[in-house]
Amino acid sequence: MPVNTRDPYDPTNIFARILRGEIPCREIYQDAHALAFHDINPQAPVHALVIPRGAYVSLADFTVHASDAEIAGLWRAVGITADLLALTDPGYRILSNIGGHGHQEVPHLHVHLFGGRQLGAMLPRT
Ligand code: AMP
Repeated sequence: MPVNTRDPYDPTNIFARILRGEIPCREIYQDAHALAFHDINPQAPVHALVIPRGAYVSLADFTVHASDAEIAGLWRAVGITADLLALTDPGYRILSNIGGHGHQEVPHLHVHLFGGRQLGAMLPRT
C-alpha cells in the first residue's frame, strides 16, 4: 500500500525498527544524521538505501521540517555511501519515491542508490 505523504510518522515502520536496532540490516555507513544499508530486495547489482535518523515520512516532510544540518547530513551520507560502494566513478542513480504516485512503500524517508551496471535512460515508457 503506497504511503500517503500527509500521514503522521509511524514509529513502527521497518526503517524505524532498523534505526532502533530491533531488526538487522547490512550496514554500509552511519553517522550522526544518517544510516546506509543494502536493500533487502535489490533491483540492480548494487542497491543501497540511505535514511535520515530523524522521524520523517518522506522528502516532502523532510524538506519542510528537518534542520539544515539534517538535510546536509543526509545528502553528504548519500555521497559517502556512493564512494564506499565504488559507484561514483562508473556512475549511479539515486531515487526517492514519495507518496502515492511515487509508489513509496516504507513511510520513512529513504534515498535509493542503484549501480553496478549501465542503468539506461530514466524511466520505462509505460
Ligand atoms: P519504496 O518503494 O521506495 O518505499 O522502497 C522500499 C524499499 O525498502 C524496497 O526497495 C524494499 O526492498 C526495501 N526494504 C524493505 N524492507 C527492508 C529491510 N528490512 N531491509 C532492507 N531493505 C528493505
